[in-house]
Amino acid sequence: MAKIKKLLVANRGEIALRIMRSAKEMGIKTVAVFSEADRNALHVRFADEAVAIGPPPSAQSYLVMEKIIDAARLTGANAIHPGYGFLSENEDFARKVKAAGLIFIGPSAESMEIMGSKLGAKAAVSKFNVPLVPGTAEPISDINAAKKIAKEIGYPILIKASAGGGGKGMRIVENENEFQEQMERATSEAISAFGDGAVFIEKYVSQPRHIEFQIFGDQHGNVVHLFERECSIQRRHQKVIEEAPSSVLTPELRKKMGEAAVNAAKAANYFNAGTIEFILDDKMNFYFLEMNTRLQVEHPVTEQITGLDLVKLQIKIAEGEKLPFKQEDLKINGHAIEVRVYAEDPANNFLPDIGILKTYKRPQGHGIRVDDGFEQGMAIPFYYDPMIAKMICHDETRERAIEKTIRAIEEYEITGVETTLGFCNFVMKHDAFRSGNFSTKFVEQYFKPEVLKAETSTEEEKIASALAVELMATGEVSIKLSNSISNESKWKKNRLVNG
Ligand code: ADP
Ligand code: ADP
Ligand code: MG
Repeated sequence: MAKIKKLLVANRGEIALRIMRSAKEMGIKTVAVFSEADRNALHVRFADEAVAIGPPPSAQSYLVMEKIIDAARLTGANAIHPGYGFLSENEDFARKVKAAGLIFIGPSAESMEIMGSKLGAKAAVSKFNVPLVPGTAEPISDINAAKKIAKEIGYPILIKASAGGGGKGMRIVENENEFQEQMERATSEAISAFGDGAVFIEKYVSQPRHIEFQIFGDQHGNVVHLFERECSIQRRHQKVIEEAPSSVLTPELRKKMGEAAVNAAKAANYFNAGTIEFILDDKMNFYFLEMNTRLQVEHPVTEQITGLDLVKLQIKIAEGEKLPFKQEDLKINGHAIEVRVYAEDPANNFLPDIGILKTYKRPQGHGIRVDDGFEQGMAIPFYYDPMIAKMICHDETRERAIEKTIRAIEEYEITGVETTLGFCNFVMKHDAFRSGNFSTKFVEQYFKPEVLKAETSTEEEKIASALAVELMATGEVSIKLSNSISNESKWKKNRLVNG
């Protein structure tokens, strides 16, 4: 198999940078692609070469396969890394890349096809002794037949898009009266988001935990898992905080779930990086949800506890190398927590709050890693995912990782947009999270926007503190901020000083 000499990254933002950094360390030249909205983006500046691929909307740039493959030809890149999102789970793209004589850094198109549909994935893994959530094995079309099945399974049930992703096309149905309406909604959401209206039914597991396993396979039939990630803190069925390892898995359960994950990967003859997602119920039964056939947003927590660079590993596997370790060589070292910093307003239903990063100062220090794609003064484009950064804290124990995360959140300074940092701080300090006794229902159960509003200052206070900062910056005056801000936590002060 060919060595990768020049790598084109078909993505943007933090993940494009993260991939290029590893490539650079391996002596591989890098090529960025960019839309007009990203002309000055950091991934473009970091790359050895960059190719413009069109207007800002991703349907006219980052999703246009031909433009990306042409950019690889133009620059002489011999491999493409798709990152996550965009074309990363598109088997046609993987096929076209290969047909163009380039190396696709990911699994085969065939594996992607099997795992790309949730129903197809369930059918494949069920033959390999992997437990599934009770539900339909085929798409549902006849409402009455579907209602009958739902009744057998027992409400509440979940109607899901087979082509789903990113938490879209999913509807909870509490009782039969809601069935038709929710099915219609799920179908139309699935058509508009994925161009495929096939939906199916799953038992809605109450108070579950989302536990996923990182797996890695080579092109010689070897597959291992790199332990689990707990991703139960979600909003809109999408992750905001992830950690590794999970605080609830015993070594026995870890072994059992890990084996199921490896089997699931083998069911699709899988190679390269992938993730097997499970839900775990309150009786510690686990069920396969889906497989993500790509590098995951939250892969850094796994990197921190295993000491491995997953992107380098992906590159070597794509070059045809064998996995450099066996399952028994792998060990968990300490605990890592990732918080996703989105430009969203947690006090307003986590709606995107894009704008310009007036202040942007990263936290620093022992055990802290920030993967981002922005600098102070940059605008967060409205066209793409509003994630600003991922902050990953690693320490010896979960308790210490939590304390480190709180310290780092307090140090992180972002103004100009609302972010999920305050929400993440709330989670870190919450008893349910700290005790480890929480589920995907965390936000619904415990989070009320008021808890953050109490932390936000009034307009008057904002103006006063902004003025104070200005005066201090010009050296004209030095005042104690505590004069105007009494009884506030340090974090609140940060918010006031900066916001
Ligand atoms: P992960 O599954 O890696 O934890 P997310 O579920 O948040 O992360 O998805 C990763 C990225 O991919 C996000 O930017 C999300 O918007 C995007 N994404 C996920 N699934 C799809 C899909 N089917 N189509 C388009 N974008 C998707
Ligand atoms: P996506 O492709 O959008 O990531 P998933 O099937 O992975 O879809 O589900 C996303 C999230 O929705 C899960 O992490 C979990 O919180 C919730 N979820 C999915 N299926 C179920 C279920 N059967 N019961 C309860 N919650 C579920
Ligand atoms: Mg998922």
